[in-house]
Amino acid sequence: MTLLLPEQSVRSFDDVDLKALKKKGIKVLFVDIDNTISAYGDTACSKRAASFLIRVKSEGIEPVLLTNNTKKHADRVLRNRPDVKMLTFCLKPLPFALRRYLAYRKLKPHQAAALGDQLFTDMLGGKLAGVHTILCGKVSKEERKDTAVMRFMENIVYTRYERQGKIDRRDGYVRIL
Ligand SMILES: [Mg+2]
Repeated sequence: MTLLLPEQSVRSFDDVDLKALKKKGIKVLFVDIDNTISAYGDTACSKRAASFLIRVKSEGIEPVLLTNNTKKHADRVLRNRPDVKMLTFCLKPLPFALRRYLAYRKLKPHQAAALGDQLFTDMLGGKLAGVHTILCGKVSKEERKDTAVMRFMENIVYTRYERQGKIDRRDGYVRIL
């Protein structure tokens, strides 16, 4: 059951090694919004998130914000964001939004990566699209109530991976071994 296991993980979006991604030939970084770069209750793009998106760009990688939520929601929580492409209502884990965008950019899946906090949406979606997957520690402990079911299911999978020695959660985030 390694379909769900991300290739890589980071404690926070700030820790993504952009130079390493660039070296790998990554041209597009799909970035989940809620709880990846935007905390629950945020009403504007934080300075940290904005500077991250700018850093991605300055490495020559295109950041593409990706959310299952509506544009209205994304515009509210990422108000004042830098000029970044945003794909809304993506229906993750279905890989079509990612695939469509890669086709538009004339890129192959191995030239893209997906960064997100959820296993069953961001990571599975990335895997199904064939892109490099980076699991990101949550930016905030608080979450929307409807995420609880997903977290419950994630915990079952993580517990199994832990027993198999594939991950370590002792540092407060899911570290891929
Ligand atoms: Mg999320």
